[in-house]
Amino acid sequence: MIRGIASSSGIAIAKVYQLAVPDLTFERKSVNDIENEITRLTKALDISKRELEKIKENARKSIGNDHAEIFSAHLLVLSDPEMITSIQDKIKTDRINAEAALEETANMFIDMFKAMENEYMRERAADIQDVTKRVMAHLLNVTFSDLASISEEVIIVSDDLTPSDTAQLNKQFVKGFTTNIGGRTSHSAIMARSLEIPAVVGTKEITKEAKNGELIIVDGINGDVILNPTAELISLFKQKQVEYKNKKEIWAKLKDEPTVTSDNHYVELAANIGTPEDVNAVLKNGGEGVGLYRTEFLYMGKSELPTEEEQFDAYKSVLKQMGDKPVVVRTLDIGGDKELSYLKLPEEMNPFLGFRAIRLCLERDDIFRTQLRALLRASVHGNLKIMFPMIATLDEFRQAKSLLLEEKNKLITEGIKVSDTIEIGIMVEIPSTAVIARQFAKEVDFFSIGTNDLIQYTMAADRMNERVSYLYQPYHPAILSLVNNVIEAAHAEGRWVGMCGEMAGESIAIPILLGLGLDEFSMSATSILPARAQIRNLSKEKLTSYKDQLLSFNTADQVETFIREKFPIK
Ligand code: PEP
Ligand code: MG
Repeated sequence: MIRGIASSSGIAIAKVYQLAVPDLTFERKSVNDIENEITRLTKALDISKRELEKIKENARKSIGNDHAEIFSAHLLVLSDPEMITSIQDKIKTDRINAEAALEETANMFIDMFKAMENEYMRERAADIQDVTKRVMAHLLNVTFSDLASISEEVIIVSDDLTPSDTAQLNKQFVKGFTTNIGGRTSHSAIMARSLEIPAVVGTKEITKEAKNGELIIVDGINGDVILNPTAELISLFKQKQVEYKNKKEIWAKLKDEPTVTSDNHYVELAANIGTPEDVNAVLKNGGEGVGLYRTEFLYMGKSELPTEEEQFDAYKSVLKQMGDKPVVVRTLDIGGDKELSYLKLPEEMNPFLGFRAIRLCLERDDIFRTQLRALLRASVHGNLKIMFPMIATLDEFRQAKSLLLEEKNKLITEGIKVSDTIEIGIMVEIPSTAVIARQFAKEVDFFSIGTNDLIQYTMAADRMNERVSYLYQPYHPAILSLVNNVIEAAHAEGRWVGMCGEMAGESIAIPILLGLGLDEFSMSATSILPARAQIRNLSKEKLTSYKDQLLSFNTADQVETFIREKFPIK
């Protein structure tokens, strides 16, 4: 058995189809006929463009507009004047063949994007890599593996899958895929989830071990790959396949059902979103609210700040789509790792501990007030709640709230309607706030625990650093103790408390959080139905009776083992 990262759920059993890696090696040559090289380059670019347009069209049909947008990014690379001119200039000045000029220029751009702090920009390096391979293949007259021509049931095995490979997968024949590299958030993993094809990525060695035509099992639930399975294993996994299919049918039926435990305790299952387009998936998956609307995307990928009107439109759209369901909008959490080039903030030694989020908004109150006005104006279109990120002191909360009230009063004086029932809360993602939650609970309307940051700050382990990821422990007793403190403090003052960090959607965390008394769980839309199914099988009373024991463990392992034993995930 080979272990990898479970990146798209489900189980697939079929024959191995090794994706042939095209041989793109070439010789760097000096050339005399410059014109000929430029013509070859232009041709290769044109054919690639036409191919990509076709792939984009197919992708639109199979995986939807949003995901097909990746190919718009690829097409943009192909028509980027800066990049094309650089390749042409290289051919002219260095008098080298088009292949060498393409590779050298692409590598320069790839290195530039890879060095950027912003994850979105770093992903652009993968786009350039993908597009360059296609153009190179055309320059060399090498054919790419034609995924579209597969006509029997297979599982794709490859070093990596580019987004354009993934978009060509025909679900009828491609039952799953597994790769050497990649992570849960890579493009291909995201696409696999929307295509609902089981996938295990990051196996490191699958292409070395698998042989074309032999049988392979991809277990996208646990992240396992099995080569040449015995008859016994095949029947075991066929059984698991049936169970998973049945589970999915049960989950689908829960779309309009309440999220209620077996002993009649209701909680809210909400979703995290980044754009108004994401609301579709929230409603499709039976979300009872939006627990976190990350507004950063309105500010990113642009050359200037978004206007009040632009923001108003986005907030109104989300609120209207959600009807009377609650929508928690988080004010701008920018700075640090998520930089905005047009703000020209100085580089920092420790961006996660630096000038970001509410710290930036309180100093640049012009930016903050614009967002607050847009939110207040949109408030009459739905059930809006406003939440401030990265609050470390009571003073910060008071200042932010008073700016909000100032803008509200101004709008009222201007004769503009504002809802009177907007709740104002904070994210609890800094340990100082979790520790004095009781003092905060007297002043805020609600808390939302941001465990993504709370864990990194409590454990002093950068959430992006692979080498310290062993310390990033959601079930560490210190984290459970802080979460418990926040919930107890909120309830003592009659406030509700949610969680919008990734932890809220994890099957091990759900029983723990229910036992501690969490009121709202906010997660990615596709996790909602499985979470609802799990919660409906749990008894709140039983979980609460284990609370003291849960909080008394010494290590994260003990906590996890206890939950797995007492509440096996069905
Ligand atoms: C968090 O910190 O848990 C959170 C939800 O915010 P973000 O992941 O955007 O930092
Ligand atoms: Mg955070």
